[in-house]
Amino acid sequence: MQKKVCLLGASAVGKTSLASRYIRGVFSERYLTTIGVKIDKKTIEVDDQAVDLLVWDLNGEDRFQRLSMNYLRGAAGYVLVADGTADETLEKALTLYDRATSTYGTVPAVLLLNKHDLKDEWTLTQGQIAALEAAGWTLFFTSAKTGENVDAAFAYIAAQTLHLN
Ligand code: GDP
Ligand code: MG
Repeated sequence: MQKKVCLLGASAVGKTSLASRYIRGVFSERYLTTIGVKIDKKTIEVDDQAVDLLVWDLNGEDRFQRLSMNYLRGAAGYVLVADGTADETLEKALTLYDRATSTYGTVPAVLLLNKHDLKDEWTLTQGQIAALEAAGWTLFFTSAKTGENVDAAFAYIAAQTLHLN
């Protein structure tokens, strides 16, 4: 069985780093802008079923580029990513998700609040986090740098794509 999950979020929030951490177990401080899309595959076991998770690492949106909705066709789940040190990236992730669901319909999603290793520099407030929880979001505090919650977040969305949670 094969499931496509797409990473959605603003530029520089850590989408590529989270994908690299998850797929290859590595992290780099270097920032290389993602152009278009990079697709990786990881085979995992969910409830005794082997699942090929196709991780689509997409470019973010900024003043230089816009995300092509075509990439999202057939997605079974979304991994939204916001950068806790730049709270304006939260709204960007949610906006992209709205655009995705209004184009292709609702599929499961999870929201990653990334760069948790830098929590002393977070601008995302407890109030914003509480509002997300109240709105029903499943949140993970992640760090592509330390690996915190990265496997857990992808395992969660994988199970969601199989309607198991
Ligand atoms: P993308 O544009 O969303 O794909 O973001 P990148 O994965 O390219 O990351 C942008 C920058 O943030 C890079 O310099 C990364 O090294 C850094 N970065 C990504 N995730 C983390 C994290 O969890 N912690 C820290 N400290 N830096 C991170
Ligand atoms: Mg990238």
